[in-house]
Amino acid sequence: MSQKAANDLQDLQYFGEYGGVNPSISDSSTYTFLSAKTMFDTFEGNTEGCYLYSRHSSPSNLYLGEALAALEGTESANVTASGMGAITAVILQLCNAGDHIISSRTIYGGTYAFMKNFLKKFNIETSFVDITDMEAVKNAITPNTKMIYCESVSNPLLEVADITALAKITLKNKMPLVVDNTFSPLTIRPASLGADIVIHSLTKFINGTSDCVAGVVCGTAEFCLSLKDVNNGAGMLLGSTLDSQRAASILKNIRTLHIRIQKHSENTLILAEKFEADGLRVVYPGLPSHPGHLIMKGQMNPQYGFGGLMTIDVGTLERANALMELMQENKLGYLAVSLGFYKTLFSAPGSSTSSEIPEEEQKEMGLGDGLIRFSIGLDNDIQRTYEQMKECMAQLGILETRTAVR
Ligand SMILES: *Cc1c(COP(=O)(O)O)cnc(C)c1O
Repeated sequence: MSQKAANDLQDLQYFGEYGGVNPSISDSSTYTFLSAKTMFDTFEGNTEGCYLYSRHSSPSNLYLGEALAALEGTESANVTASGMGAITAVILQLCNAGDHIISSRTIYGGTYAFMKNFLKKFNIETSFVDITDMEAVKNAITPNTKMIYCESVSNPLLEVADITALAKITLKNKMPLVVDNTFSPLTIRPASLGADIVIHSLTKFINGTSDCVAGVVCGTAEFCLSLKDVNNGAGMLLGSTLDSQRAASILKNIRTLHIRIQKHSENTLILAEKFEADGLRVVYPGLPSHPGHLIMKGQMNPQYGFGGLMTIDVGTLERANALMELMQENKLGYLAVSLGFYKTLFSAPGSSTSSEIPEEEQKEMGLGDGLIRFSIGLDNDIQRTYEQMKECMAQLGILETRTAVR
């Protein structure tokens, strides 16, 4: 696969009004017009390059949107105030009361809760399926199905969706394939594989500094404009607007994304291979033991590796908690939700980020109590990290001390 995404991003240049190497931040909620007629036309959505009100659009948000459209290879992109702001706007834009959604059953807890609980208000029903089972996906389609939804690499189980195969199904059934690509920016480019709408929580890898919450919807110009429609647009009317100052800071952070992703992936692969060899139950798409390994290889850009997330199942919640506390004491990372930070972050999703999912369903999808999700950081000396993590595991009897640290 080509390096198009990173190259397209690199070629995007914006300047400040005095020739600054970064664009000026639009510090206004509203904009003046020289004529009343132009203001009217802008309301109707007819004037390129005119700004009306910053909930609708602002120069800073448009710059970031263009960068993300370049990243994902879509015509356009709208930034939002959070990943959930992007996800909920897309769903409510595509579905009417009484409609039906097919979704992967292993998705972000907030998305799951929105579909399962909140959408009841609108009588919108979701069938949660095993997204790696194409027959199950096809069989779930009803006359009211309006979209198929999945994550390219899922949270927290790291299931890999076969986007090409899913896109064949959505194309045949004339419905959009919506893919949350938060776990695999640059690595996977869902639109090039047939996805119609690509969503990110920018909060994670893309911003990469764990200092803000933001999201994006990437899609056709027509769909992105429809989200901004002053009469019917979910983006415009639900009001999940990103602040210009934040958009500007995320745009600066995105400039180092390609380097960060490479390092996250490199470090994670080393740890995953070593801990698997040590006999731990490791899940990482870069391991040949991962059920989605070949699909991942077939749809990824190898330059960026298999991503920065892995899980280790240590059996029980008590052991998971003890290990996470000990690793934190030893400065190996933070016991925290979220991902994509320079420092390793770990949490037990069963009792935190996926606690929205009922315990029984967690078991069915393979989300055990002792599962720890690691977002591996940009550690300079990953061998040292490995030895220190291993020492923590040995102390708690998770790994035998027999394989003593050298
Ligand atoms: C964090 C996350 C979200 C939600 O994004 P926010 O920015 O927290 O609203 C959605 N999907 C995935 C895969 C995530 O990891």
